[in-house]
Amino acid sequence: MAEILDGKRVAQALHERVEAQLRRVAGRGRLKLSVVLVGDHPASASYVRGKQRTAEKLGLDGEVHHLPESVTEPELLGLIDRLNADPQVDGILVQLPLPPHIDERTVIERIAPEKDVDGFHPLNVGRNLAGVPAVWPCTPAGIMAMLDFYGISVAGQHAVVVGRSNIVGKPMAQMLLQADATVTVCHRKTQSLTEYTRRADILVVAAGVPGLIRGDDIKPGAVVVDVGIHRVNGTITGDVAFDEAARVARAITPVPGGVGPLTVAMLMVNTVRLGLRRRGWGGDVL
Ligand code: NAD
Repeated sequence: MAEILDGKRVAQALHERVEAQLRRVAGRGRLKLSVVLVGDHPASASYVRGKQRTAEKLGLDGEVHHLPESVTEPELLGLIDRLNADPQVDGILVQLPLPPHIDERTVIERIAPEKDVDGFHPLNVGRNLAGVPAVWPCTPAGIMAMLDFYGISVAGQHAVVVGRSNIVGKPMAQMLLQADATVTVCHRKTQSLTEYTRRADILVVAAGVPGLIRGDDIKPGAVVVDVGIHRVNGTITGDVAFDEAARVARAITPVPGGVGPLTVAMLMVNTVRLGLRRRGWGGDVL
């Protein structure tokens, strides 16, 4: 039976590092994360609440700007401009998806790169690609922190990433490559997906398809990271058929309790990193 990679435990370790930095600068002021939520999408509202709660628990100011679904793009951009200009705001996150009348790309590109806690701004994407220090998107960065926490070595391993989204798959592949893995990226048009997944020492699945990866698709002894989140018949499951996979893998993340808590923890890490950098207070979280 595979070792269970416990995201909550890793998140706790990341939280402690965030708290240590916040204690160190406590006399100089509080760092602030501003989250923008548009409309009343229930999952988005619950993610935003979780982010604000975690921020406040750790000693960050967590502020939510909740705008109606009918907000216009210029109004939303106006709010982002004000947050960009506010010296008290260290991190800005616009919860996605946005309503169809608002162009996500325009909004992402409006966020000041030095406050872009999601790492989605093209300047930060480019910096990451070039290996210049910037913040990485929270989900892949959380996964890298987890591999490190459990002492799973990446260098020289064959890592296969299923999915190539801008928020998970592409930055995940890039981070693994920079950690010296040999990386294969699979996607919707990949032929014979199983041929690739069966050759993975580290398999990261972010396809958004419940139960896509079965036990037979996994190399015995592999490390399996399941990014998917789905509500199926009232229970939360991932992209990997967990019971089958756990019999074959060396280590595996559960859903829930695997990658999810890491994403929120890494958002806190990114906020504090960017805040310390922008304010010139020195130090770092990781
Ligand atoms: P997305 O829909 O933007 O991208 C999915 C990717 O998977 C695409 O590149 C697509 O080509 C590929 N894909 C789809 N079907 C495939 C198939 N049958 N075979 C191979 N590749 C296939 O999704 P996303 O935003 O990257 O999210 C992926 C999953 O991860 C979703 O379930 C999402 O809810 C979850 N997610 C979880 C967290 C977390 O914190 N745990 C964070 C972000 C996303």
